[in-house]
Amino acid sequence: MNIILLGNPGSGKGTQAKVLSQKFGLFHVSTGDIFREELSKKTPLGQEVAGYLSAGRLVPDKLVLEVLKSRLAKETRGLLFDGFPRTVEQAEGLDAWFDSRKAAIDAVIFINVSETEVAKRLGDRRTCEGCGKIYNIGTQPPQKPDVCDACGKKLLTRDDDKPGVILKRLQVYKDQTEPLLAYYRASGSFYEADGGQAPESVTAKIVAMLNGK
Ligand code: AMP
Repeated sequence: MNIILLGNPGSGKGTQAKVLSQKFGLFHVSTGDIFREELSKKTPLGQEVAGYLSAGRLVPDKLVLEVLKSRLAKETRGLLFDGFPRTVEQAEGLDAWFDSRKAAIDAVIFINVSETEVAKRLGDRRTCEGCGKIYNIGTQPPQKPDVCDACGKKLLTRDDDKPGVILKRLQVYKDQTEPLLAYYRASGSFYEADGGQAPESVTAKIVAMLNGK
């Protein structure tokens, strides 16, 4: 099974992707995580994408597609995409790649959350520097302030979760990623989940949709 999660930054794609990939035995592909990892290791790719990430702009399509293809060349598990594709050009590149592997996308799930709500969530989001676990200081705080419940490492605010960059990312989503909704709606395997509820309820709805396929 190959799945794409679509939605605004802060809509809960990362949180859902972690749970769903475990549940269905899928390989979780987060282009954002890939770029942040390269950035923290200071690799040439990390240096190339640094400016885009800190400004909340999209990394160029050609580079994103190259990185993904090389990362996924040997992967045989089903794939769960989180944060990719983000433009129609990336979606077309992904379609061509699946065609070449004689595979297909089984479900595109749009996690729908209002812009006001995601802006608040992004400002309240904290991410563990060790294991990547995501918290919300308002609705899902850690037991000890700024310390990860799972691994004990420090919780940080992502650089691109700072106020000015949040606004830019939401605008970029509207301009460049939202057109994907129409692209995939036409495909027949498009599902929409109300992402305004608690993460567990959103997961339950998505699981029910996937099991009913
Ligand atoms: P995310 O963690 O998915 O919100 O991604 C963080 C940042 O990484 C984005 O704001 C972009 O700068 C970059 N990025 C992640 N995925 C993509 C993608 N598919 N296309 C272009 N840029 C991306």
